[in-house]
Amino acid sequence: QDILDHITRIALIPGDGAGPEVMAEAEPLLEWARARGRRLEAERLPYGADHFLATGETLPEAAYADLRDRFDAILFGAVGDPRVPDGRHAEEILLRLRQGLELTVNFRPCRPLPGTRMAGLHLEVFRENTEGAYCLQGSSEPGRAVDLAVHTEGAVRRLLEAAFLRARARGCTLTLAHKANVLKHGHGLWLRVFQDLRAAHPEVPARGMHADALLCALVQDPAPFGVIAADNYLGDLISDLTAAFAGGMGTAPSLSWAPHRPFRCAVLAEPVHGSAPDIAGQGLANPVGMILSTALLFRHLGWETEARAVEEAVAATLRDGARTSDLGGNLSTGEMGTAIREQLP
Ligand code: ATP
Ligand code: MG
Repeated sequence: QDILDHITRIALIPGDGAGPEVMAEAEPLLEWARARGRRLEAERLPYGADHFLATGETLPEAAYADLRDRFDAILFGAVGDPRVPDGRHAEEILLRLRQGLELTVNFRPCRPLPGTRMAGLHLEVFRENTEGAYCLQGSSEPGRAVDLAVHTEGAVRRLLEAAFLRARARGCTLTLAHKANVLKHGHGLWLRVFQDLRAAHPEVPARGMHADALLCALVQDPAPFGVIAADNYLGDLISDLTAAFAGGMGTAPSLSWAPHRPFRCAVLAEPVHGSAPDIAGQGLANPVGMILSTALLFRHLGWETEARAVEEAVAATLRDGARTSDLGGNLSTGEMGTAIREQLP
């Protein structure tokens, strides 16, 4: 197939709670990119709590296969709803996509804006996204509970290779967060693969660090850190900390991808935050995390000028003092999204 004929097909899954509110501010960016000549097609999918409560369906197998084989990318809001107490639909939608599509790498950049306390920091977390402590069912009996974690060499190597490539491209340090001193099997595997790759990339200043010491060092002075790689659990903790450095949960973007491209659909962009049920439906959600996630997707698709234009529009809007309430301002989700779009070329 002629690559020039290729139309990028993007599935939009707004999901629950604040998800649809922030998605409504990202969706116009696709139309904007198309008006600038990018060949894309967007289709909105209904999966989430409303759909589950109405039909009993989470992510039907046929819809999953369609996403996998007939789309290139997913733009995702958030899933999670207090009306579905065990979170079953969220697992069956988002975890199914991450694990089924083998989206091993979850990339979470932290770039605090000019004028903020942490300005100048450029930290990136590479979090393994499909296994670790978040994928096996443990068990409970009275007085005793067991959780399990699995780490496979394939996923660990893919995650770490992506982190090494990124640190090399940026010319920055790479730190592996681990607890191999106590988690001898799982984190032992991480450390072995890390040492292997370090030998293959002698130009990257790379070292392993116990995760507890790393958190302490990050809080004291994050400046020396460039790229941090971690398993699913540690990456979750570390990236929430770095989100706080950059202005809070509402502003943090993420991109997940499958470096080995096992399927046509090999990338998913979503904000770091969840469905935020405490503020959902009130126009209070900050759309910046969702909008910056869309920029990461544009960059991944090779649309660098659009990615940069969106990031610069966000920075300019914040420099002008526009803020949603989580950052001490009084703009609604929609007003913030509009202000950002008005800065676009
Ligand atoms: P989920 O179960 O879907 O992950 P959650 O209950 O963990 O949801 P998060 O969405 O992760 O909640 O949000 C954690 C906190 O950050 C909440 O207090 C929420 O209000 C706040 N928050 C999350 N997203 C945003 C946003 N876009 N703008 C402002 N505040 C947000
Ligand atoms: Mg959450």
